[in-house]
Amino acid sequence: MSVKIISRAEWGARPWDNDPRSSGPATVALASRTEWFVHYDGATPIVRTGYAIPRAIEAEHLANGWAGIGYSFVVDQAGNAYEGRGWGRVGAHCPGHNVSGLSVQIAIGGDQEPTPAALATARALYDEACERTGRKLAMKGHKDGFATLCPGTRLYAWVQAGMPAQGYKPAPNPGGSLPGGGAEVARYQVTINGLTYGYGAVGDHVTKVGEALVKRGHGSHYTSGPGPTWTDADTLCYSDFQQSLGHKGTAPHQDADGVPGESSLRTLLGTLPGKAATAPKAYAPPAFPAGIGPNKAAPSARTLQRALKAAGYMAKSVAEADNYGPQTQKAVAAFHNAYPQYRSQGVSYDPAIGPKGWAALFTLAYGK
Ligand SMILES: [Zn+2]
Repeated sequence: MSVKIISRAEWGARPWDNDPRSSGPATVALASRTEWFVHYDGATPIVRTGYAIPRAIEAEHLANGWAGIGYSFVVDQAGNAYEGRGWGRVGAHCPGHNVSGLSVQIAIGGDQEPTPAALATARALYDEACERTGRKLAMKGHKDGFATLCPGTRLYAWVQAGMPAQGYKPAPNPGGSLPGGGAEVARYQVTINGLTYGYGAVGDHVTKVGEALVKRGHGSHYTSGPGPTWTDADTLCYSDFQQSLGHKGTAPHQDADGVPGESSLRTLLGTLPGKAATAPKAYAPPAFPAGIGPNKAAPSARTLQRALKAAGYMAKSVAEADNYGPQTQKAVAAFHNAYPQYRSQGVSYDPAIGPKGWAALFTLAYGK
């Protein structure tokens, strides 16, 4: 069965290279593909849902100077598969393996547990990759090709176990117009006090909204639930509630479109759940220390080692030391492989951190 993939156009990708004239990354013949890489999002659990997931990865990868999302595909916890480089384009996910390797990022971070739906979709993509290439692609985690913590302990164990999963079924689209030609139901999300509402949002807070709607007599669209996943039924019920408050307009982005606003949510629940989002502080990396470099000893080497660990380029188990020794050098070179723009010019293996790389590394490690 071929996997339902939400195309770049559907999820609202920026043009390749953020440039409408770009023809995008080079194409790669399926015959060149021999391996399959699994990635995760990084050290931090992610709470985004729906189209916000590929868009966030795209923003990060464009900022890296890449053409767009570097993975072949991204799979979210609902089991949606989003097109990144797709079947036919060179990746930007693992140096040395971007032609030979197709890849999927499962959109979890840290210790987050992948859902059975996410694993089933990722596995179905792998099976389809094997079918398309006519060979059994080697199953690999990012760390099998590159010094990194990716894909995290849970996904790496899964890869090593042979990626067991079953029961793939296409997830409903996380956003967009309704199939079947019905009136368009809003399928965008909003974040209020750090919690996400709208189609595809998941959590106790979604259940609580549904229960409150039912209690107020606006539960007529539920055939199951409410909660914990926000469906079109939640949107339609919430729209009824908004209309009862006198709001007008049920088309997406009008006042009664069924996607909560702060005031209607407060009216419904009495208080706003969640905690007020604090404005992200601009991160200022520490100044580049004088005298830092391979085989030199200075306390600043420890600062560097901590940032390398925080950014995932050095194992946490490596002991800190004043000496900028072989392990620090190897980790810096790995960082440079991922961000070649910070290498010294003309150097392909660069163990020496420079001022720009220093700033980028610290921003990567601590900037968000
Ligand atoms: Zn990775």
